Amino acid sequence: MTPARGLGTMVAVCALVAGVAIPAYAATQTPAANAEASTWDEASSESQAFSSSGDLASADLTSTSYSARTADEISQIDAERKALVRAKEQQAAQEEAAVAQQAQQAPQQQSAPVQGAPAAAAPPAEPAPAAPPAANGSWINPLGGAGYYISRSVGSGHEGSDMVTTSQADYTVPIYAAKAGTVITSGEVVGGWGNTIAIDHGDGTTTLYGHMSPGSRQVEVGATVTQGQMIGYVGSTGRSTAHHLHIELRINGAIVDPVGNLPI
Ligand SMILES: [Zn+2]
Repeated sequence: MTPARGLGTMVAVCALVAGVAIPAYAATQTPAANAEASTWDEASSESQAFSSSGDLASADLTSTSYSARTADEISQIDAERKALVRAKEQQAAQEEAAVAQQAQQAPQQQSAPVQGAPAAAAPPAEPAPAAPPAANGSWINPLGGAGYYISRSVGSGHEGSDMVTTSQADYTVPIYAAKAGTVITSGEVVGGWGNTIAIDHGDGTTTLYGHMSPGSRQVEVGATVTQGQMIGYVGSTGRSTAHHLHIELRINGAIVDPVGNLPI
């Protein structure tokens, strides 16, 4: 006999002795001791039932722990648990989104005052162009770069300056508004001026452009013009013997010589 086999035999003998001896010992005990022994027997028999076939699942286990969990209930509980997990996931996603949104809003909120600063500074800058310009300020030559000479100016009943153009043909030399304003006169026959436009510049000054080419007026009374806007062509309509621009300048209604007040 090998030592290992001898040890196995010894264990088997001990188990056999215990299995026989303990019931035998229980049978010799008092009723109180028998109650303990019977409790031990019940536990032993239950453990044997579970370990062997499971066909003796106790009524207690069935009625308390497992009978309440039918397949439908288990699936329902499982669905509820999954729904709870999804809800937590959605909540977490919403919280992340909220954090991200706050992160995005933070720069905007920080940039808002920055944007507000130029906006607050802008209004003082905007009234500057809107403020009435000085009578002598910011005029342009109404003939642009076209060639001309001044044959006469204010005096002896002549209320403007005559700018005789190098070109003596209709529709060849454009006339530009010397300053922005509103058209107050626009007609083909305006006294001796012929085809004429006048502009109120809104600052107490007005300009008048006479002898324009027939039918060349580009704007009517009430129209708003910008500085440098083309309003017609140099002509010789009205009381005129040559193509020229008769231009008048008034400040607060008073005739002023365009020469020296306009860049002509
Ligand atoms: Zn004239």
